Amino acid sequence: MAHGPEDDPHKFRRRGVLFVLSSPSGAGKSTIARKLLEAEPTLGMSVSATTRPMRPGEVDGKDYHFVDLERFRDMVSDHEFLEWAHVFGHRYGTPRAPVDAMLHSGQDVLFDIDWQGAQQLFQIAGGDVVRVFILPPSMEELHRRLTSRATDAPEVIDARMARAAAEVSHWDGYDYVLVNDNVDRCFECVRTILAAERLKRSRQTGLIGFIRGLMTAT
Ligand code: 5GP
Repeated sequence: MAHGPEDDPHKFRRRGVLFVLSSPSGAGKSTIARKLLEAEPTLGMSVSATTRPMRPGEVDGKDYHFVDLERFRDMVSDHEFLEWAHVFGHRYGTPRAPVDAMLHSGQDVLFDIDWQGAQQLFQIAGGDVVRVFILPPSMEELHRRLTSRATDAPEVIDARMARAAAEVSHWDGYDYVLVNDNVDRCFECVRTILAAERLKRSRQTGLIGFIRGLMTAT
């Protein structure tokens, strides 16, 4: 998981960051993830596999890998997932190989996964994982956003609203909790978190050699 120095102002090698963004759906997470990927060239997106049907406008292989239940089960038994979970009556999982490849090539990795995924990823990769939870400013605003999105049937929106309160209850499984009352401001906070986490001493594997050089230079 050692990284090249190109996104590090001090040019030290460092461990990659597994950057998790979670939120109740409609809290603005997808917009923030998109802006972050545009702004950060050394951040790659983990594309999950799911058994849920494709929504209008979604692209297979970009938004998700849309697979049937049999294929998903095969992937589970072949240990192809870093983590997987049941969400809204469907299965979602993070394919392992692309994440390994991104870390290997010096990219940090962004995950749009729920609290169950964040928990499992933390169990596997501990200190390499940074977990950010995004809250809506209110449940009324969340309902408004879900309705205006117009991609889901009313009963699906009702189910998502019911799930949102349960999801919010997992706020304490995260390292950072942000309220998205302004998407640009929230995005800047997320970007700042990523920048600071990249600079953490525990990630700077190249720091020791530099310090040794400083200490022996006199
Ligand atoms: P949606 O169906 O609205 O795209 O996503 C529903 C929920 O599933 C979101 O909270 C999303 O973060 C979560 N999710 C998406 N992919 C994964 C995954 O690979 N693992 C887990 N645990 N959750 C996921």
